[in-house]
Amino acid sequence: MRLSTNFTLAEFTKSQTATRKGLDNTPGEEHLANAKELFANVVQKVRENFGVTVINSGYRGPALNEAVGGSSKSQHCKGEAVDIECPGTGNYDVAKWISENCDFDQLILEFYTPGIPDSGWVHVSYKSEGNRKSILTAMKENGKTVYKPGLIQ
Ligand SMILES: [Zn+2]
Repeated sequence: MRLSTNFTLAEFTKSQTATRKGLDNTPGEEHLANAKELFANVVQKVRENFGVTVINSGYRGPALNEAVGGSSKSQHCKGEAVDIECPGTGNYDVAKWISENCDFDQLILEFYTPGIPDSGWVHVSYKSEGNRKSILTAMKENGKTVYKPGLIQ
């Protein structure tokens, strides 16, 4: 099954943890519908602008989310969020482009180290019922994850 022109459902649900533990990570219809909106409005557009786009983490069903110790409020659990990278393009540049060219709910530049273009990744979510357009940068400070407003290079 395809989520959009260049992406399959398998790419969105693939997880090494799920495979290793034999967990079913198949989304229900509502979460699948959310994923299609996310791909149509954000991920496919990124692919068309930057070329190959790698999905580091996509859907997390209840079993997988528990196995990885994720927050039950994570948008990954609703099929609304994805973590991506575009080989050859710095993650700051990918996030910046999304912020200027896409509708989205939350955009987070995660653990990006200035000067190392492929460090970290880009988390982006989309809600069909309305988007907040929240933009954050996640970084470690004294061993703790902190979120700061905007995209910080
Ligand atoms: Zn994420």
